[in-house]
Amino acid sequence: MAESAAQVRDDVVAYMRAHHPENCRHWFDTIEAVDFDGGTLSLLVSDRVHLNFLRRQCTDNFTDSAQAVTGRLVGVQFVDEKEAESIRRQKATRGSNGVGRAIRSNGAVLDHPDQMPLHPDYTFENFIVGPGNQMAHAAAVAVAQKPGQAYNPLFIHGGVGLGKTHLVQAICREIQRNYTDGEPNIYYISCGTFINRFLEAVQAGDMADFRHRFRNVDVLMIDDIHFLSNHDRTQEEFFHTFNTLFQAGKQIVLSSDAPPREIPRLEERLMSRFSSGLVERIVKPDFETRVAIVRKKAMLRSMPIADDVATFIANSIDTNIRELEGAITKLHIFSRVNKAPINLELARAALGEQLPRTHRQPSPQQIIEVVIEYFDVKLTDLLSKRRHKSITLPRQVCMYLARKLTRYSLEEIGGYFGGRDHTTVLHAIKTIERKRKTDSALDDALTHLEAKLTEKPA
Ligand code: ADP
Ligand code: MG
Repeated sequence: MAESAAQVRDDVVAYMRAHHPENCRHWFDTIEAVDFDGGTLSLLVSDRVHLNFLRRQCTDNFTDSAQAVTGRLVGVQFVDEKEAESIRRQKATRGSNGVGRAIRSNGAVLDHPDQMPLHPDYTFENFIVGPGNQMAHAAAVAVAQKPGQAYNPLFIHGGVGLGKTHLVQAICREIQRNYTDGEPNIYYISCGTFINRFLEAVQAGDMADFRHRFRNVDVLMIDDIHFLSNHDRTQEEFFHTFNTLFQAGKQIVLSSDAPPREIPRLEERLMSRFSSGLVERIVKPDFETRVAIVRKKAMLRSMPIADDVATFIANSIDTNIRELEGAITKLHIFSRVNKAPINLELARAALGEQLPRTHRQPSPQQIIEVVIEYFDVKLTDLLSKRRHKSITLPRQVCMYLARKLTRYSLEEIGGYFGGRDHTTVLHAIKTIERKRKTDSALDDALTHLEAKLTEKPA
């Protein structure tokens, strides 16, 4: 064979980095060449989580890259140590016209057939801790260190894309890593799978197998448990699963988009079980955390990112982290397609359409008008130096909205709202950000005011 496996592997990884950078990770350097028989390139990936990620998310791009660098119809397979060993043995006995073998793999990470695949990026090291998630993070670390002993169950809830799955998977990884005595029996599945398996078992009349599977684990983690809502019979079964595990001191970790008491149609007894350990909420990250996350995600992709670009992205997107990540991926692809370096100008061009397009920038006067109307205060009071509580909140809301919805600097905003300096403005913004997280009436009011101020004029 003209090309050695090692050479093809190097070329393929280089091609991947150049043409599919959004798919690349820094640990790609650890991928080893096992064999290239002309038809199939076999690559050894020792870390199971990495292996699973490659099989699920990168096979097409690797195949594309292998075909590009060899100019042939090559297939790529990712294999573990055992499979690599058997390929090496076959290679030793192979004739000159050996043909490629496909290794079948279900891609399962742990021993359970329905196990959700773990994402290689979802570790504690890669999780940025900020005010919005520090409690949930601390609880997750404690549970990972002492499963069944710290908090049981651990119930993590919050809106979409805020890191629940990331934390749950990090617990999984950490427990695996700390385990010295063989393999921990962890079952990590989605709630949907749990429901489906239950319904199948009912239909097949084989509950024994189902129960055996779920009640003999050391750690049970179910993602998006709110999907139990409306599934009365599954709830009943889960209640018993829960009790069996709990009584045996086995760790249970649940994630949900709502706290237990707000999951619609959840049995009272389950609600009280879910609340009986530790319930932690994750809320939206603040600006500093978003900047740190952007940096971390860029680093994981070996993507160079300057401070102003990270700040720009963090400023543009404050909805959730999944969208923040989407913006980074978009910028990465945009830079490759346009063969342009990643800088602020490129980021603006790439993400221009990501900024709320239908939104307009309100004037400070308009902000003042809606706030006065909403809080029923006088303009003169608002702009005065008075410090009474009834006027402080509306004034802080004005500054907060001005910062969020306009491009004025802190100094300029201070100037508009009663001649205050930028530290007062900063304090006001932080105060409202903090209150917004705990005061749902204020949160609703702000959502309402923001919508009003950014509506497109008819
Ligand atoms: P959820 O399950 O709450 O909907 P995910 O856990 O899937 O959200 O998170 C969405 C994305 O945001 C993932 O790529 C995840 O790695 C990332 N993410 C969320 N929180 C953090 C964090 N604190 N640090 C780093 N990445 C985060
Ligand atoms: Mg999730």
